[in-house]
Amino acid sequence: MTIPLENNPYIPIMATIQSIEVLTAQERLFKVILPEPLNHHPGQFVMAGLPGIGECAISISNSPQSSELLEMVIRKVGNVSGVLHQLKESDEISIRGPFGTGFNLDDFKHQDIVIIAGGLGIVPLRSLILPIMQHKSNYGIVNLIIGSKTPEEALFREEIQQWNKLPDVTITELVDNTDHHDWNCEVGRVTKPIHKLRLDEEKTQLVLCGPPIMYKCVLHEFQQHFDIPDRQIFIDLERRMRCALGKCGHCQINHLYCCKDGPVFRYSQIKNCPEAFS
Ligand SMILES: Cc1cc2nc3c(=O)[nH]c(=O)nc-3n(C[C@H](O)[C@H](O)[C@H](O)COP(=O)(O)OP(=O)(O)OC[C@H]3O[C@@H](n4cnc5c(N)ncnc54)[C@H](O)[C@@H]3O)c2cc1C
Repeated sequence: MTIPLENNPYIPIMATIQSIEVLTAQERLFKVILPEPLNHHPGQFVMAGLPGIGECAISISNSPQSSELLEMVIRKVGNVSGVLHQLKESDEISIRGPFGTGFNLDDFKHQDIVIIAGGLGIVPLRSLILPIMQHKSNYGIVNLIIGSKTPEEALFREEIQQWNKLPDVTITELVDNTDHHDWNCEVGRVTKPIHKLRLDEEKTQLVLCGPPIMYKCVLHEFQQHFDIPDRQIFIDLERRMRCALGKCGHCQINHLYCCKDGPVFRYSQIKNCPEAFS
């Protein structure tokens, strides 16, 4: 069977960089303009790269309502991200996608929501948080717990302060440690405030994204204090990816492919997959 070129998910489109904002020593916010809207769901990702260099999986960080704009936070860690960090405004970047399952906003309507983000985890979760904040009256009580290693690594702080002003939104920002006397939020792990939450377990949706160790600790802490059904717990996983189409097997977790069955999973789908939490 021949796939028409324009529908071939292996072939990237070229997008133009509108702006690059330095967020931290390692992370930059890329705003790129696509030839056509991505029509993504929150939590989906793209393969971003450059012809002749390669591609890497990068989460879509903006709201699904943002038409031709694509926002990505790229941490400089290796080959592709290192080259992307050398790009400037008006340069082109290759994009394939959107890929993955993402979140369905209908699962969260009229529900209370607890979102826990560790480190770069706030980047994909921002694409879920933004539409919830934009239409807050459609959702119940929202608790956000956001952790970073140090104040210098904390992302989107001004935006987070704006979300904190909305009704029925409570935000706890934490850092693992700091020497800064002007850090005005908490010090400790994201597990620290969990016991203080007041939750209606039947109508609470819990969303987690962060390093694998965070999932074990957060789930353990929740199980000590609450009984949230496994179906109401969403976990956004990260694995090394190549094709993003469930063919190459790089991102396989037991019988699941992180790229096409995830990266957003319900806990009920993965609780018996030991590889998911390692
Ligand atoms: C769904 C998803 C969403 C993501 N979203 C983002 C995002 O929004 N922003 C972001 O910055 N990153 C994101 N990532 C992570 C990003 O895709 C990886 O960090 C990617 O490897 C970077 O590519 P690179 O070529 O720059 O780095 P690489 O050259 O691949 O190196 C990355 C790191 O992996 C190590 N490494 C290299 N090869 C291997 C190997 N074979 N096995 C194990 N380790 C190896 C390197 O030493 C280095 O520490 C996401 C990943 C996934 C799966």
